[in-house]
Amino acid sequence: MAIKDNIEYVNNLKKVAAETAGRKGEDVLLVAVTKLHDVDEINEAIDCGITDIGENKVQEILNKYDRVKHVKWHLIGHLQTNKVKYIIDKVDMIHSVESLKLAEEINKRALQHNKTMDILIQVNSAMEESKFGITTEETGKLIEDILEKCPNIKIKGLMCIAPFEDEPEDAAVYFREVKALYDEYEKIDHENLDFKYLSMGMSNDFEVAIKEGSNLIRVGTMIFGNRDYAKKQGN
Ligand SMILES: *Cc1c(COP(=O)(O)O)cnc(C)c1O
Repeated sequence: MAIKDNIEYVNNLKKVAAETAGRKGEDVLLVAVTKLHDVDEINEAIDCGITDIGENKVQEILNKYDRVKHVKWHLIGHLQTNKVKYIIDKVDMIHSVESLKLAEEINKRALQHNKTMDILIQVNSAMEESKFGITTEETGKLIEDILEKCPNIKIKGLMCIAPFEDEPEDAAVYFREVKALYDEYEKIDHENLDFKYLSMGMSNDFEVAIKEGSNLIRVGTMIFGNRDYAKKQGN
């Protein structure tokens, strides 16, 4: 199927899930995850209305950046501190902040560029050892530390990757836990905290995530097909 049809299909499922939850389809932002896909495919998706794309590797963003049409870039993967400087002027939001050390580096580089960087805190409610992210218990402390020490960062919400479940419904419990945290921290009154995004849901589970409160979904496979990992472009 063509990328255009796939986007339409995802947008329809997104709308139905949002309406089931008493919200509107357009209240849920679709971020097309373009990792391991070519610039031509990405530009085709942008021509079909995609406004936001997600990449998980710094090097891949650098490889593609100049050839991709105007779009918002999201860094959704693990970010090493020493690579922040390469993307600070390129990405619109970093979804994967999980330590004060990383936040401080983002803050420092943002200051150098005279900008404020939008970030999400990556929460790992399932606490799987192979995954990145902090526990729900650690989240409050990290948010407080960032607000205290990183004036060039704006915390826009939370992100989570649920463990892969054969039955997507089984991921609901993880999403629910992160949504509860989101509701709690959303109430914090601080000029550098403006909760707007709850980034949850991928191809296999975004409908469940939306029903549990997600308003930003990160979808790759369902738009572009399977990724060819042989094309891996370095870290
Ligand atoms: C690859 C990736 C996605 C997209 O996954 P699909 O299953 O292809 O939709 C979403 N979020 C993150 C963090 C990813 O690395």
